[in-house]
Amino acid sequence: MYDGVIQDLIDELGSLPGVGPKSAQRIAFHLLDADPEDVRRFAAVLVQVKEKVHFCTICGNVTEDTECRICADPRRDPSVLCVVEESKDILAIERTREFRGRYHVLGGAISPIAGIGPDQLRIRELLQRLGDGTVTEVIIATDPNLEGEATATYLLRMLAPLGMRVSKLASGLPVGGDLEYADEVTLGRAFEGRLSVGGAPAEPRP
Ligand code: ZN
Repeated sequence: MYDGVIQDLIDELGSLPGVGPKSAQRIAFHLLDADPEDVRRFAAVLVQVKEKVHFCTICGNVTEDTECRICADPRRDPSVLCVVEESKDILAIERTREFRGRYHVLGGAISPIAGIGPDQLRIRELLQRLGDGTVTEVIIATDPNLEGEATATYLLRMLAPLGMRVSKLASGLPVGGDLEYADEVTLGRAFEGRLSVGGAPAEPRP
């Protein structure tokens, strides 16, 4: 244990995802050694990101505007909606260049252990979005792990009565992993070979 503010910093850093106690200590001492101007800029970005960035009112993606770049793009196909857990999954799918539709971000996955149920996710917003008949195909692209599968199963049950095409990313994605860590080729293939799991069969898109 260090005294005062240096320990506070180590504690704060250690609370970040993927940062263990040793890394937290290393980063804290790196910041102590760094140029004051660099640290000030870093601190300013931390504050700004909380002030400026919020969630797209349509899809839940992170944005500095009311609507995100993808929702605001008229060239994106409004009839196909890809449902993902987090904004970072959108980045992963965009990298494949396989998808020209729009997205819906759930804000997580169903996890009884973490106390996250369907009500904590943006599922109500999803059903509202699907209500006006614009979307004719939904692609479920939750993570290939336990929570992602549970979420997909729940969504399938909710979407079944709506009568639209529903498909799910094909297998081949590393099981137990995060969508964002799948390489572009694997994720692209999973998109092409997505499996129809409800409604009319999904047609492969150019
Ligand atoms: Zn959006």
